[in-house]
Amino acid sequence: MKSKDSLLAGAGDNTRLAHLGHDPMSYHGFVNPPVVHASTVLFPNVETMENRGQKYTYGTRGTPTTDALCEAFNALEGAAGTVLVPSGLAAITVPFLAYLSAGDHALIVDSVYTPCRHFCDTMLKRLGVEVEYYDPEIGAGIETLIRPNTRLVHTEAPASNTFEMQDIRAIAEAAHRHDCVVTMDNTWATPLFFRPLDFGVDVSIHATTKYPSGHSDILMGSVSANEKHWPRLHETQITLGICGAPDDSYQILRGLRTMGVRLAHHQASALEIACWLEGRSEVARVLHPALESFPGHAVWKRDFKGASGIFSFILKAGDAAEGRKKAHAFLNTLSLFGLGYSWGGYESLALKVNLSDRTIRKAPPEGPVIRLQIGLEDVADLIKDLEAGFAAAASA
Ligand SMILES: *Cc1c(COP(=O)(O)O)cnc(C)c1O
Repeated sequence: MKSKDSLLAGAGDNTRLAHLGHDPMSYHGFVNPPVVHASTVLFPNVETMENRGQKYTYGTRGTPTTDALCEAFNALEGAAGTVLVPSGLAAITVPFLAYLSAGDHALIVDSVYTPCRHFCDTMLKRLGVEVEYYDPEIGAGIETLIRPNTRLVHTEAPASNTFEMQDIRAIAEAAHRHDCVVTMDNTWATPLFFRPLDFGVDVSIHATTKYPSGHSDILMGSVSANEKHWPRLHETQITLGICGAPDDSYQILRGLRTMGVRLAHHQASALEIACWLEGRSEVARVLHPALESFPGHAVWKRDFKGASGIFSFILKAGDAAEGRKKAHAFLNTLSLFGLGYSWGGYESLALKVNLSDRTIRKAPPEGPVIRLQIGLEDVADLIKDLEAGFAAAASA
């Protein structure tokens, strides 16, 4: 029989998602891996114990359950190794703690996930790391910001909330000329639509809370590194004692099996609604990388294989007070769209974006930014909900 690995190497995304990570014949033929709850692992004798001479040695260092998920991520990301952590935010903070030391300088994209900025401005600063924010569209120009003590360049594309694209390959090439480690928050695209390591990124970060989970019920993060940067990442995880829980790991692996078909639906529905929004007179601009009107569209088209289901639009308003009133009326009227944080689940969500932390890419002048996560509901129903929101905004 031809080995499954070689078949999977050339297979399509959905085939890979159905079969990656776990070999049923290694566990009595059961299709899914066991959920191993463990702290203690027993050794057959003291010699094996002293040498750590067996595959599993302690619960924090991995189990068959966490290994199954890590193997799937290694294959999807083309990584040498993956660590699991208890949230997407920890998937950012753990690698930052791995690669940064007192006296270092870090370059962070200005449109970064807000809690990442909070970590940088508080804890990293306290630990003696100097943080500088850069324009998401800087491209190869990042080189002018690199100093002798710059150690890490963090990217996220598209941007949180405003969806600016980044020229990841150009940034990675410039950073590597100065021996910086390049990290990327790849949560929006998932490894199906973008593979950061193929574009020169060293460490790919996911809030698996989002599409891999898919059901708004699990918090988890993954960090996948290339050969060069894997040992330090792995070492840091062990040192910090941060690890993925067995039930959560199992649920994320379960979510991965259907992520491809879910994403296809999210992608198509979100694009249909984004196009519909472009035709509305109440909308100043739609911020969605797959729209030709979007400034980052060419970069998205060149580098990405798809678009997921979250984007924003700018509600036209004369001034801030009017914008606030209209946005509140719009959001309070929605009923299928829930008001809530996070995304990647089956249900649609909306929120008013807060861009007050930005230092370079500030809030747009035309009006408030509304972010939509398009779930798995039928588009016609979602549009009806949005129409009611616009009607309420008009009479606000
Ligand atoms: C949600 C999110 C995170 C954090 O994930 P949590 O599991 O909620 O901590 C990190 N990065 C991005 C881009 C996100 O959207």
